[in-house]
Amino acid sequence: MQYLSESILREQLLKTSQQLVVLGLNKGTSGNASVRCEGGFLVTPSGMKIEDMSSTSMVKMSWDGSFDANKKPSSEWRFHRDIMQNKPEINAIIHTHSMFATTLACLHKDIPPFHYMIAIAGGDTIRCADYALFGSQALSDHALAALIERKACLLANHGMIVLGRDLDDALAVTLEVENLCEQYWRTLQVGAPHLLTEAEMHAVFQQFKGYGNWVI
Ligand code: 13P
Ligand code: ZN
Repeated sequence: MQYLSESILREQLLKTSQQLVVLGLNKGTSGNASVRCEGGFLVTPSGMKIEDMSSTSMVKMSWDGSFDANKKPSSEWRFHRDIMQNKPEINAIIHTHSMFATTLACLHKDIPPFHYMIAIAGGDTIRCADYALFGSQALSDHALAALIERKACLLANHGMIVLGRDLDDALAVTLEVENLCEQYWRTLQVGAPHLLTEAEMHAVFQQFKGYGNWVI
């Protein structure tokens, strides 16, 4: 695979992290993001506010978990690494504590096919991964299980993870998943949603072929 230069990828990761805050998807030091690069991946630094981040703050990590000794990678580097190692087509990962995804995650709710756009997450549900401590290997293991044949999952009592072929794709799916979570939450205030059938969802997947930039 041909990679963009590390300096360009550092700039792209910074820009995406800034957009996550501008779009209201992350606040304070919540959430993190990563992008695949030559020999490993770049991940956002741990516990740093967006206004203090620059492209040089991004931490280069190797697949064995090693990194530059005077930097501190995101506490969630394990799931960033494990997802990229398990899914070669995935080159970017976004993690948020966005309001509606987190609200549903606190209820341990999988999102069912209540709206056709759920297809952009790769299947007819978005699963909620079992709870585990932030930064733990157990959280990474639970996330990987919830991400089988999916580009997004919720993390119980925590937030969500979205995968993309690049950072722009991951950001677009993150926005849409948060939108779906808000729509599902709002629907639940009124009653039980009418769910799409397997056949209806199959037709949605067919219709999506060639629609916009979605990779499903
Ligand atoms: P980091 O600042 O270490 O990336 O942690 C934020 C977070 O969301 C942990 O789950
Ligand atoms: Zn988090």
